[in-house]
Amino acid sequence: MTSTNALRLEYRDDHVAVLTFDQAGSRANTLGQAVLAEFEAVLAQLKERTDLHGLVLQSGKPGMFIAGADIKELGSARMDQPELVRALMERGLNIVAGFEALPFPTVAAIDGSCVGGGCEFALGFDARLAGTHPKFEIGLPEVKLGIIPGWGGTQRLPRLIGPSLAAEMICSGETAKAARALEIGIVFDVVPSERLLDEAVRLVKDLHRTGKWKEDRKRRSQPIGLTEDQALYTFAVAKGMILEKTKGQMPAPLAALDAIEKGCNRPLAEALQCETDAMVPLVGSTISRNLIALFFNQQRMQKDTGVADANVQPATVKRVGVLGAGIMGGGIASVHARKGIPVILLDSNPQALDKGIGNIAVGFKTLLDKGRMKPEEMVAALARVGNTTQLATFADCDVVVEAVVENEEVKTNLYKQLEPLLRPDAILASNTSTISITRMAKSLQRPERFAGMHFFNPVERMPLVEVIRGEKTNDVTTATLVALARQIGKSPIVVKDGPGFLVNRILFPYMDEALQLLLEGAEPRTIDKAAVAFGMPMGPITLYDVVGLDTALYAGRVMQAAFPERSRPSPLLVDLVAAGRLGQKSGTGFYRYPKGPKGEDDPKFGEFLTKHRRETRKIPTEEITERLFLPMLTEATHVLAEGLVRNPADIDMGLILGIGFPPQRGGILRWADSLGAKHVSSMLEKYRDKGACFVPSAQFKQLAASSEKLFPM
Ligand code: NAD
Repeated sequence: MTSTNALRLEYRDDHVAVLTFDQAGSRANTLGQAVLAEFEAVLAQLKERTDLHGLVLQSGKPGMFIAGADIKELGSARMDQPELVRALMERGLNIVAGFEALPFPTVAAIDGSCVGGGCEFALGFDARLAGTHPKFEIGLPEVKLGIIPGWGGTQRLPRLIGPSLAAEMICSGETAKAARALEIGIVFDVVPSERLLDEAVRLVKDLHRTGKWKEDRKRRSQPIGLTEDQALYTFAVAKGMILEKTKGQMPAPLAALDAIEKGCNRPLAEALQCETDAMVPLVGSTISRNLIALFFNQQRMQKDTGVADANVQPATVKRVGVLGAGIMGGGIASVHARKGIPVILLDSNPQALDKGIGNIAVGFKTLLDKGRMKPEEMVAALARVGNTTQLATFADCDVVVEAVVENEEVKTNLYKQLEPLLRPDAILASNTSTISITRMAKSLQRPERFAGMHFFNPVERMPLVEVIRGEKTNDVTTATLVALARQIGKSPIVVKDGPGFLVNRILFPYMDEALQLLLEGAEPRTIDKAAVAFGMPMGPITLYDVVGLDTALYAGRVMQAAFPERSRPSPLLVDLVAAGRLGQKSGTGFYRYPKGPKGEDDPKFGEFLTKHRRETRKIPTEEITERLFLPMLTEATHVLAEGLVRNPADIDMGLILGIGFPPQRGGILRWADSLGAKHVSSMLEKYRDKGACFVPSAQFKQLAASSEKLFPM
């Protein structure tokens, strides 16, 4: 037996060697430089052992085989040097090739996560056997980090399961669970975890006995041999699907497809070169760095308790009350019930209550029909939803989320009736979008147990929850709401109380500027197209129609009152609302909606525009893009300077999760970083006469003067 920091090699009496990967001091097994050196040393030993009948590779960690390459290394600043990237790729490729050339058969015994470089290692083995651990998943999610598999994945997976399926998996980055991996032939079989090692040894001996592994290895080293027609069809279809999904914004899936296409009709050794050539320009690219930063931010958020004091423990939440059974209240109750938390929904209007409960049931049924919920799960989730019209029913709730109409008086009157009925340690949270938490807390006896819990619409789909701390909100309240949001599958971000909180505050200047552009001559479609080309899921004009022009007008007034120097009232919006053009919900807004949610140009809107337009200038796309996103950035710099969030990355995460800001741009602050603060300052200077929404915080100006970055990595 030999053992190093991460690897343990045991030679058994039955001529089978078992290599166990168990990285010291880490929850995951990752393939960083130090571990690769250990694999190289083990390989040097193994390749001399012609006496062996086989090798089994397993992990010493339950639920984890290999999590892949070390992402920190891939995201490091050194990775903008192509020769370094090439060397890193070659090192991994040589190790996989080393396993593939061992003079005896090999089996990877996988009982947990086997992704990225881990999967590529396993693909170099003669067979893979899966265990039944629920954390089992196998696949190549590299494109989600803006890169492609670089240790042979784009060439070995197509040789194993066919180019079409492999392209689908690699270009989407989706992983497969054990049953699917078996169905498509990535693994030879699925066996109970406790028998995995024994079965792997049996399989490797079997391979040794039949000698079939030799033919298989030979076959895998050769071209796949697609005919011209097959290749044309396979790759044209795959390319179409990628472009449809990524709107041409993501280079990695296309690069992966290109590598598969170029490599599949060449011998493996040559094909691997095609992969490296496609990989090198992607590693260290801005998009890849942004996506890697996003990955680490997601991990950070998973662990964030929401408060600075590590001794604060969130309270246990066993029962939640939801006040108001409208669009938001129904959604909030539904996500709790789905994630196992009993919930009681209350509405003062019995019809609204019936409708709210009905909507929850319809929502669950849709999930069932889509196969995303099992029948027994639906029954259990429905059983968790209670309903009432009596506030006293909330007496045993640990948390009550209020989602009644957006009217401060209605809300605070309700709090006054409700608070004496609640347990003294219960937490009350408001889903308000615009009203000050600190101010509403004044109506309460226990303001420290009150906070905002701002969900986004539609609640079932939108991942972000802003947890808003009023001046008096205490740590336990904050930590409990953060933990609860995470328990129901959301990503919470803690924000200090302030107009628009985080996301709406930063979104608003962008929406506002879209109206200014209209008045200067830009067409609604041109503005929307520029935003979509930047990567937004929809343009700002469409977003007005989706949100509702009345809601936007009301929220706009809140922002104008708070930041009069940076936001302007819009007489155009006032006129449209007065004419009943409220957006999708009323059938007309900026566009018209005769056939459902897809907006058509509406000549009648032109009449409103003509009335309000100040100019009829043809505005270049570049100016439209800059004028949409620079005010967003400006506002973000003020939010940062005011310390509204605890971490600058929370601003970026809030926008990505809350409004679908393009993740490949890393968020609005990272976007500024990638351009450089100096360059951004000169862009802002161009629009100086357009108003204070192009004047960033003093802190940002300093940054520009010093050429520093907001995020060093
Ligand atoms: P909604 O009009 O759909 O529902 C409000 C419900 O509250 C109605 O069913 C009404 O009967 C009930 N209600 C009114 N007064 C009540 C009272 N005194 N006691 C009990 N029930 C009462 O509204 P919504 O869109 O679900 O919004 C609710 C809250 O969520 C608002 O504060 C809103 O600002 C906020 N919000 C809305 C959105 C959105 O997109 N709709 C997004 C985020 C936050």
